[in-house]
Amino acid sequence: MEKIVSLAKRRGFVFPASEIYGGLAGFWDYGPQGVELVNNLKQLWWRKMVQEQDNIFGVDGAIIQSPKLWEASGHVAGFTDPLVDCKNCGARHRADHLAGTDSTDIAELTKLLEDTVCPTCGEKTLTPPRTYNMMMKTWVGPIEDDSARTYLRPETAGSIFTNFKNVMDSMHPKLPFGIAQIGKAFRNEIAPRDFIFRVRELEQMEMQYFIQAKTQDEVYEAWRQFAWNFMITELGVREENLQWHEHEENERAHYAAAAHDIYFKFPHGFKELWGTHNRTDFDLTNHARASGKDLSYLDEETKERFIPYVIESSVGVGRMLLAVLADAYREDDLGGEVRTYLALAPKIAPVKAMVSPLLKNKPELVLKAREVRAELKKIHPAIAWDDNGNIGKRYRRQDEIGTPFCVTIDFDTLGETPELKDTVTLRHRDTGEQERLTLSEVAKRIRLAIE
Ligand code: ATP
Repeated sequence: MEKIVSLAKRRGFVFPASEIYGGLAGFWDYGPQGVELVNNLKQLWWRKMVQEQDNIFGVDGAIIQSPKLWEASGHVAGFTDPLVDCKNCGARHRADHLAGTDSTDIAELTKLLEDTVCPTCGEKTLTPPRTYNMMMKTWVGPIEDDSARTYLRPETAGSIFTNFKNVMDSMHPKLPFGIAQIGKAFRNEIAPRDFIFRVRELEQMEMQYFIQAKTQDEVYEAWRQFAWNFMITELGVREENLQWHEHEENERAHYAAAAHDIYFKFPHGFKELWGTHNRTDFDLTNHARASGKDLSYLDEETKERFIPYVIESSVGVGRMLLAVLADAYREDDLGGEVRTYLALAPKIAPVKAMVSPLLKNKPELVLKAREVRAELKKIHPAIAWDDNGNIGKRYRRQDEIGTPFCVTIDFDTLGETPELKDTVTLRHRDTGEQERLTLSEVAKRIRLAIE
């Protein structure tokens, strides 16, 4: 993890939020490479989840919604984690993490933690476990009293359910159909930790698929498989780094009838990355009851009216980024030196290729290299320029941000060796190998790799 955190900082992927003021636990900023990688992950998810589907519609809801939404969804009463306080040093810990269990059952945790000492001070002075609501509170308007209190959304699903009727009335879909959303969510986690794995401001990619109850098992299986395939086929993550984890009853969220998480082998162990949940008709039933609005669906063929079931697919953008970085992080020996590189799938790499003149003080080389870059930018805009330091250093910098190709322009490109005129050196990230190709061959290689 230390190596990933250090690379992420050094190369502009992730910075601690408010770093010059000492940072703020659980908050992180993306840097120039990080924002590109994150945008690529989100765009890919959106393309596969929304644009390439016939019956999934996107929304982008407000972060702040009516507090009634979170009362009806069960979050005000039930979005809790178990915590213990230390009476000696004041430290706060997640009771389930301390007990080494996935259970959030208070009676069970009390028993498990009977003889546990505080990991911070080593004293046996922990309070009994109690539940703690993780929603971030805020006030809307000038008066900060209870009547103006609301919450920063703890998940994006809320405004998907409140827009169920709007999407039906505007798009007229037939079951089964889905509504998807990418957006920020906030959780006042007791112990944010493990870099960007557990944060207080997170971004989620969620899709709620509305179905007839009788199809729940097969639809659930299909979306579970979608997540697994996305990680392997789209992101190029190695299968041995993924695992299934089925929730036991005492571990499931308050709304879920079944839940399977994909666990990823993060540097701190196999942990949750992407959840598929069967939320039954819990949400729409509760919102219909609390709002007094009809959230049922009329099947025009059978004339049956019912509240659809929901299968949810939910993944955190930051966790996906960390998984991708951890999976791609490699060290090898290149030319007798240890080299670090990110074996990112070209289609998600922040930079697709870097173009460089062999020498920066030769105007004819620079001019030609600029032309080559302009040409390659027609394939994809993320074509970088680097003429700083020697060529080996430039390659190493690109290796560390996962750039799949480097293109170097030298005197042979200009025709010093006549048969090599208009050829360039194409250098491959993963092997360090170089080949001499024409520009149109290079363009083709890049185009094929990022498809
Ligand atoms: P955990 O058990 O790790 O707290 P969860 O089961 O509460 O997570 P969900 O409510 O199912 O998570 O949220 C869906 C997804 O959102 C998770 O699979 C994860 O990728 C992401 N996520 C949830 N909480 C956080 C967090 N605090 N920091 C970063 N990502 C998160």
